[in-house]
Amino acid sequence: MWSNAQDSALQERARAVIPNGMWGHQSVALMPESTPQFFTRAQGTRLWDADGNEYLDFMCAYGPNLLGYQQPEVQAAILRQMELGDTMTGPGPVAVELAEALTGMITHADWAIFCKSGAEATSMALVTARAHRGRRKILLAKGAYHGAHPWNTPRPAGTLPEDRAHLIYFDYNDLDSFADAVKQAGDDFAGVFASPFRHDTFTDQTLPDAEYAAGVRRICDEHDALLIVDEVRAGFRLSRDLSWAEIGVDPDLSCWGKVLGNGQPISCLLGNDKARKAAGSIFVTGSFWFSAVPMAAALETLRLIRETDYLERIREIGTMFRQRLVQQAAEYGFGLRHTGPVTMPMVLFEDDPDYRFGYRFSDTAMRHGAWLSPYHNMFINAAMTPGDIERALEITAIAFDDIRRNRASVQPSAKIAALLPR
Ligand code: PMP
Repeated sequence: MWSNAQDSALQERARAVIPNGMWGHQSVALMPESTPQFFTRAQGTRLWDADGNEYLDFMCAYGPNLLGYQQPEVQAAILRQMELGDTMTGPGPVAVELAEALTGMITHADWAIFCKSGAEATSMALVTARAHRGRRKILLAKGAYHGAHPWNTPRPAGTLPEDRAHLIYFDYNDLDSFADAVKQAGDDFAGVFASPFRHDTFTDQTLPDAEYAAGVRRICDEHDALLIVDEVRAGFRLSRDLSWAEIGVDPDLSCWGKVLGNGQPISCLLGNDKARKAAGSIFVTGSFWFSAVPMAAALETLRLIRETDYLERIREIGTMFRQRLVQQAAEYGFGLRHTGPVTMPMVLFEDDPDYRFGYRFSDTAMRHGAWLSPYHNMFINAAMTPGDIERALEITAIAFDDIRRNRASVQPSAKIAALLPR
């Protein structure tokens, strides 16, 4: 019988020594009421919580798990480097090898700077774009997430309007809205952040329009402003190159993180020769930005990305999950919107404006061993097999059946009611 007694005890202890019991989106604050917060183990496609419950995990650590938790070859690379040295007075040769590997794989990239988090990579991109021509205005799509630094955190407590004074927002996939923002920036237009596709929380995902992407590129060139693609979440789940390479648009800068070391803490900023001088002029660093173990993990992850059929497999598994889940929903009398790339599915219920069915669905699935999200895109990893999807569907059948039977009495989650527009 599923229980979260140990986890509840840990959450209570955490509330005493950690503000709100946990920070950021790794907090379960937005998840259904009984969602466990703490995990003791992860292997392949599976997670175990503090009570020993096992989950087939569709969140993949919010992205980093691309090849399977503890993928054996990556794990071996980690252990080999660990025995030699990790955080040293300077980087290991692996830093050069990794920069060479990335610039060899990512068409637009001529250089790399490594860091630890996606937000560090996006902040470095912002500063580089401003340093390029000494301009200030940065354009961003409304609602897009690029990290939790003062200029981009979604909850601005403790930040100043000045932190965002030179940011201009436009609508994703809307070239007219982008052109208006450019006009507003005038001769102070430094650069624009583009998400590979629209992957905001609580909303359907939309793929970029090729014309929009090409238009953004052209307008940036006309103004000598830098185009930045924030690949932190989507990296290597759509392509072995930058995801916009598929639609033929090369940015000047791209930000990477999450999957880069298959879970090891490493991220990076990549750039082209046009942006090299600006990137060389800014001062950026961190005590752990040189650590060799995450770099060795990343080097091995990139080799597996190049040399295995992981991408074809996650597309196949993602397609199977999408088709079967939508079909299953219809069998139980529900409409599902399953949007975005199949390897990063967002699953929302039709006619569910306060997300009550989505929350109940995820909660029931979690209690039966499938970790899903009712508000955030999920992720497929390469360790998943058709058997795992069959298992997930057995669990989702229980969850659909539960809502069908309790349709009239399911209540909206009190936690998210406060967040919804009134
Ligand atoms: N950009 C995007 C698109 C992201 O999804 C995230 C993380 N969810 C970030 C930046 C920030 O990455 P990190 O949490 O590693 O700072």
